[in-house]
Amino acid sequence: STPGNIEKEKTLAIIKPDGLLGNYTDDIKRTVLEYGFRIFKEKTVQFDEATVKRFYAEHSSKSFFSSLTKYMTSGPVLVMVLEKDNAIADWRALMGPTDARKAKITHPHSVRAMCGLDTQKNCVHGSDSTKSAEREISFFFRELSADVITEHDEL
Ligand code: ADP
Ligand code: MG
Repeated sequence: STPGNIEKEKTLAIIKPDGLLGNYTDDIKRTVLEYGFRIFKEKTVQFDEATVKRFYAEHSSKSFFSSLTKYMTSGPVLVMVLEKDNAIADWRALMGPTDARKAKITHPHSVRAMCGLDTQKNCVHGSDSTKSAEREISFFFRELSADVITEHDEL
């Protein structure tokens, strides 16, 4: 990338089918912007089964995998690349814990407390490390892979 063009950290966020269906998109985006994130890229995607299985490959041996696949293909999702200093950890913190019921008690101001239902239907996804952020961003936005991220990329 160009020297002097300081790139902030990027992470992948997904508003899951229950988030879109429940009309939480505007509230989630407003919260994201209030917390200082920039929405660098976004697109709506309808997962098919094979694609979501690839995306969630790390969970393929879990008991909830087929249920997770069904949930994530139940309707469109909104995929976003969020950018700010410390974006990966800050978006995880803003999302709250995986179990939205728990989030409502322990993290009442989190996104999952606002729009999630339970351990599965928790309305948002966030990359959990630098490595998964890189993998997940290039999974959806191939032109943002490796170290060729510029302001000029178009989808
Ligand atoms: P997170 O999204 O908080 O990183 P995980 O990576 O552990 O959580 O799980 C991925 C997704 O799988 C969760 O967001 C949730 O939708 C679903 N999930 C996780 N654990 C369970 C579970 N015990 N039962 C049903 N669905 C689950
Ligand atoms: Mg995870």
